Amino acid sequence: MTRQIVLGALVSAGVLSMAVAARQAPPQGPSAQALEATTIEKVKDNLYMITGSSPTPRELFSGGNVGVFVTANGVIIVDTKLAGWGQAILDKIKTVTDKPVTMIINTHTHGDHTGSNAMFPPTVDIVAHENTKANMAKMDAFKGENAKGLPKRTYQDKLTIGSGKDRVDLYYFGRGHTNGDTWIVYPALRVMQTGDMFAWKDAPLIDRNNGGSGLEYAATIGKALATAKDVDALIVGHSPVRRPEELKEYQQFMTDFANAVREAQKAGKTVDEATASIDLTAKYPGYSKERYRAAIQAIYDELK
Ligand SMILES: [Zn+2]
Repeated sequence: MTRQIVLGALVSAGVLSMAVAARQAPPQGPSAQALEATTIEKVKDNLYMITGSSPTPRELFSGGNVGVFVTANGVIIVDTKLAGWGQAILDKIKTVTDKPVTMIINTHTHGDHTGSNAMFPPTVDIVAHENTKANMAKMDAFKGENAKGLPKRTYQDKLTIGSGKDRVDLYYFGRGHTNGDTWIVYPALRVMQTGDMFAWKDAPLIDRNNGGSGLEYAATIGKALATAKDVDALIVGHSPVRRPEELKEYQQFMTDFANAVREAQKAGKTVDEATASIDLTAKYPGYSKERYRAAIQAIYDELK
């Protein structure tokens, strides 16, 4: 009897301290489920992908896919997921190589791709498009002490890093998801990494606050397709590895989508009416329309 009471008291104290801990826990950082869902996959030879996830469900969200390129001199990673994921990224890399991370390339400014930059040591080089550096500098996440996570090196149109089988080419092809989206080509492996310019098979997130454009989106993809012809696999933003044909299809989708929004706007439809009437899922099998409304709103704002 006494024992039961003591036990009961201990259990409720335990529950109480758990509740306190939960309230005091930092808002970011991997949940056990999100860690469980994150794997490292070989894309080709010395190139791997640490899997990302879709922003929903939230408790499984880790950020975007991370490219892991093991070169002779060290590991180049492309993107760093949400804040709090640095150790998880390092742990995954350790399962495929002992080499240290020497460089971070950020595809764009968003916190689910740059979130863990600041936890890497200062010896790690950080590279991004010049507009992305400017966008990141405006973020609270890179203020004060965390400014050390900002890019140290930027470029305008194209930047080549390394040579031979270790070469990576960074390209800026124009506005779309933001105004600073880098496309990375690994020429020796015939792989391109698209960042969130191709995140999923649905309308894209068009971040007008960071210079994104729904009207220029398809043309930007077109430049990527025209330049990166010797590619047969794509690491994309938040989905499994894709083929170049699927990016070509996404370009067509974005052309059709922007045209449909333009017509709806011309016909005097509200954003809600346009969202209700536009549906490209029959023409594009495997596509969803969960993200139409926000993209339509962004294009309406752009057309103003
Ligand atoms: Zn993004």
